Amino acid sequence: MIEDDIEALEKEMLEELKRPQGRQILVCPVCGSTEVTYYMGLKTGYKYQCKSCNYVGPLVLEKEC
Ligand SMILES: [Zn+2]
Repeated sequence: MIEDDIEALEKEMLEELKRPQGRQILVCPVCGSTEVTYYMGLKTGYKYQCKSCNYVGPLVLEKEC
C-alpha cells in the first residue's frame, strides 16, 4: 500500500499549495526568493524548488508572514 501513501502525500501537498496564504513563507536559501514550491523527490523524500534560480534541495528557509 506504499503507492496509496504516496498518493495521499501528493494530495496533501497539493492542498498545501492551493492555500492562498500559509502561516509561513518558504524562502530560497540561494537567492532569497519566496517563489519556492514543493518538489517531489522520488526516493529522497521532500525537496523544494525555487522558481527564480531553479535551486532544488532539502534546505529551505522559512519566515513568518
Ligand atoms: Zn532561488
